[in-house]
Amino acid sequence: MFNFYSPKIVYYHKVCPNTGNDRFNLGVEPELFNRQLDFFFRYYKILPLSTLLKKWEDGEDISGCISITFDDGYKDLAEFVYPAAKRLGVKFALFIPVSVLKDREYLWYDAFYFLKAAVGEKRILLSLEKMTGVHFTSFQKAFTYIKYNFNNYKIIKALYKKLGIEYPKDQGKIYLTFKDLLVMKEVFEYCPHSFYHNCFRPLSRDEIEQEIVGSVDYLSKLEGLDVNTQIFAYPFGRKQDMNNSSYEILKQAGVEFSLSAEGGSIRRWSDRFFIPRIGIEQWNIWYLSLAMIRL
Ligand SMILES: [Zn+2]
Repeated sequence: MFNFYSPKIVYYHKVCPNTGNDRFNLGVEPELFNRQLDFFFRYYKILPLSTLLKKWEDGEDISGCISITFDDGYKDLAEFVYPAAKRLGVKFALFIPVSVLKDREYLWYDAFYFLKAAVGEKRILLSLEKMTGVHFTSFQKAFTYIKYNFNNYKIIKALYKKLGIEYPKDQGKIYLTFKDLLVMKEVFEYCPHSFYHNCFRPLSRDEIEQEIVGSVDYLSKLEGLDVNTQIFAYPFGRKQDMNNSSYEILKQAGVEFSLSAEGGSIRRWSDRFFIPRIGIEQWNIWYLSLAMIRL
């Protein structure tokens, strides 16, 4: 069975209908999500993330164990994920970028895509060209360039200013609110996922500190929730998104484990500050089984 029963952490972003229109295809349809969840429930022991990592750290046998995590704190979790967790009596982890809770501002990439719908690609690319001196041939290329060359949040905020448009705020429709977190507290442990969801690679040391320490501090002060600031998840989380300063700052902030978005099972020798995590997509159960065997 190869890796089927090797311990794993999986992650989702959105569970929502009509994923065809989704920005990055990050959503799984609710009906399929429930089937995937039933699959995990049937073949694995679903552990709270903190329990799984503690057992791993203590050298216990965690084969056949899995933890299920969610990133970014989108609203549909309250509608589709919360009832599913209650139905099975399992606990999930939610990695939440603090700006969503604190300022209710759109995450920079949501704001970028929102702008595309509001003013069109052409105006955006022209403005960006003036701001950066770089010529962009497509929206997607501009997105990637911004991600890897700037403080993402700052430049999108500046782009809004240049276009004379107010940076969008959420009225509790797109992201979870603190109230939602309270309602769902028995099925989620809440963990930091940076402050502005900037890609770490182009950031200065101070900016990374703000992303890590800022989010740990803010979350640790929230009362009435099961908050765990010892577990962090990198924004984006692939190898190419990393920054050399991160480990040291994570340690200073009291973080014990940091999760990546590089797929794979957890091994004895896995790097505790770059723990593998498998992104689950619109996979049918056959494909999901295959992924669990291979990863
Ligand atoms: Zn994220």
